[in-house]
Amino acid sequence: MPQNKKQSDDKIARFESALKAAGLKLTYQRLEIFRELANAADHPTVEILHQRLKNRIPTLSLDTIYRTLATLEQHGLITRVQTAESQAHFELTIPHHHHLICEKCGRITDFDWPAFDNAPLPEKVSSWGKVFHRKAILHGRCLVCQSVLT
Ligand SMILES: [Zn+2]
Ligand SMILES: [Zn+2]
Repeated sequence: MPQNKKQSDDKIARFESALKAAGLKLTYQRLEIFRELANAADHPTVEILHQRLKNRIPTLSLDTIYRTLATLEQHGLITRVQTAESQAHFELTIPHHHHLICEKCGRITDFDWPAFDNAPLPEKVSSWGKVFHRKAILHGRCLVCQSVLT
């Protein structure tokens, strides 16, 4: 079995048990929307997901995708990535990673940052409360956009 097929199957298995734990039904549409996100490397928007899914599921409406994503987000299975654009982007919550966002082309790039994940928190944070997640978003201009004359 090719490695990425296996990884995708692992994600689906995790998804199924997470839905069960959350008391949600595993519907065909939920599974297909999740599978599409699991295979996407580009943090798609709702409209892009709809474009990609509508060949396979012609009856799937934009509204259903919105509602499904909201449910999955509520249960922590997927994460919304907000950029300067008005449309939100979506991805799976796991594996944990951080984001680089190019302010010119809008591309979102994943990166790992264990030093950030493990850094001691400033005192203000511990006197404020308890932190559950750390997620960094770094804004800048990617190399491709730097090389294009503006
Ligand atoms: Zn760029
Ligand atoms: Zn990401």
